[in-house]
Amino acid sequence: YAAKADGGRYRTYADDLDDAAGEEARLGADLRAGLDRGEFHLVYQPIVELPNGAVSAVESLVRWTHPERGNVPPDVFIPVAERNGLIVELGEWILRTACLQYADWWRQGIAPERFGVNVSARQLAEPAFPHIVAAILAETGIHPTRLVVEVTETAVFGGGAEVRTVQELNDLGISIALDDFGTGHSSLGLLQTLPVQVLKVDKSFVENVTMAGRHAVIATSLIQVANGLGLVAVAEGVETAEQAAELYRLGYRRAQGYHFGRPVPGSAHRSSSSTVTAAVDPGSSDSALRM
Ligand code: C2E
Ligand code: MG
Ligand code: MG
Ligand code: MG
Repeated sequence: YAAKADGGRYRTYADDLDDAAGEEARLGADLRAGLDRGEFHLVYQPIVELPNGAVSAVESLVRWTHPERGNVPPDVFIPVAERNGLIVELGEWILRTACLQYADWWRQGIAPERFGVNVSARQLAEPAFPHIVAAILAETGIHPTRLVVEVTETAVFGGGAEVRTVQELNDLGISIALDDFGTGHSSLGLLQTLPVQVLKVDKSFVENVTMAGRHAVIATSLIQVANGLGLVAVAEGVETAEQAAELYRLGYRRAQGYHFGRPVPGSAHRSSSSTVTAAVDPGSSDSALRM
C-alpha cells in the first residue's frame, strides 16, 4: 500500500463526486450568506447606437465578491443559484436594485431610454413573477416600457409556464429580449411563439464578422431576420472598431461590447446623450445615414 494522504483511505471516483457535491453545497451556502451580508452589486454596460455611439440602453450584470473566494463570475454562481432556488430571491434583489438605480438616473436627468435585466428560467417558472415585477416597477416609480427583460432561448425552451410568464411580462408593456440569440436549440422557432422585441445576437457570430466565413454569413442572416420581423437586433461582444464598422455595413444599428464600454458601477454612468468615444466612422458616403 502507498501512503494514504486522505484520512487513511484511497481516493476514488465516488470521492471526487462527493467533492463536487460538497463544493456545490458550499457555494450555495456562501451565496445565501452573501445575499444576507450584501456581497452582491450590479454593474451596467452601455448598448449604443451605430454609427454614432450614443447610449440608448444599459444592461445590468450582477457581480459577487466573496471575502475568501474573491470575485466569482456569474457564469459560475448563477447556475448554482438556479439549482438551489436562491435565484428567485437573488433575482428579486437584482431587479429592485436595477430599478432603484434607473430611478436615480432618471431623477438626475441622465437615464438612458431603457435598461435591461437578465432573468433566468427558474424565475420565469414562478407564476407570481409578473406580479413581483409589476410591484417593483410601481414601488420604484418606473414605467414598464423602460424595462427590457433579457431571457435566453434555453430559459423559454421548456415551453409552458415560462412562455406564459414572458407573455404576461410583455402584456405589462415590458420589452422582451432574446439573449445569446442563435446559440439555442430552436432560435428561429421561438420567434413564432414568443413575443419578442429585441434579438441580442450572440458574440460568437460577432467575433469573426470581419472575416469571410460562416460566422459572417450568420450575422448577415440574423440582421435580415430581425429587420424582416420588425425587431431590434443588438450585436453582442463587439471588441474592435473593425467589427463595429462591418456590423454597421451589414445593417446593425445597435451594439454592445468592450469596444464601446465595459460594465461599470451605476455611479460611473454619465448621461444618455453622452457619446462614447469609440463610435464608428461610417465614412463620408454613409454620413447621410447618421442617426
Ligand atoms: P449575458 O447576459 O449574455 O451578458 C453578456 C456577457 O458578456 C457579460 O458577462 C458581459 O460582461 C460580457 N461582455 C460584454 N461585452 C463583451 C465583449 O466585448 N467581449 C466579451 N468577451 N465579453 C463581453 P458577465 O457579466 O460575466 O455575465 C455572464 C452571463 O451571466 C450573462 O450573459 C448572463 O447570462 C448571466 N448573468 C449576468 N448577470 C445576471 C443577472 O443579473 N441575472 C441573471 N439571471 N443572469 C445574469
Ligand atoms: Mg444579457
Ligand atoms: Mg448575451
Ligand atoms: Mg451570455
